[in-house]
Amino acid sequence: MITQDQDTLSQKWEVLLSQAGYRITRPRRAILDIVAESSRPLTPLEIYDKVREDNPGVGLVTIYRTIEKLEELHLVSHVHHLGECQTVFRCPDSHQHLLICTKCGSSRYFDGLEVEEQFNQIGEKLGYQVTGHWLQLAGLCEACRGKQQSKG
Ligand SMILES: [Zn+2]
Ligand SMILES: [Zn+2]
Repeated sequence: MITQDQDTLSQKWEVLLSQAGYRITRPRRAILDIVAESSRPLTPLEIYDKVREDNPGVGLVTIYRTIEKLEELHLVSHVHHLGECQTVFRCPDSHQHLLICTKCGSSRYFDGLEVEEQFNQIGEKLGYQVTGHWLQLAGLCEACRGKQQSKG
């Protein structure tokens, strides 16, 4: 048995997928690695291009099926940004929200608890009990802000 601490995210995904009856082939493992390690949301085509570097025989269908399976198990979710709604990114461990750089796509998760208090208050004011929300922040990451400033 592998010890839990040393498992990478893609190894954890691999275990969950095989428990769900999904056979892990070499290209599929490559897809898991790429998506789990990405610091920004990726489109299926971007994943496809990266996987093909080492697995030239892989088909786009395999990419879509693997993404679908990961979505079913709530391991990745679709991210809406820059008019590109097809991108997927790993899900957070806990209830967290995404902050995404509009320039390079670099993405981080943050806790939304403070603002979520306000959502409840908004609901109360309007006579609703708030049971859910969509929250995603967009901005410019440090690296992209640096580039802008140096351009002057
Ligand atoms: Zn950026
Ligand atoms: Zn939230």
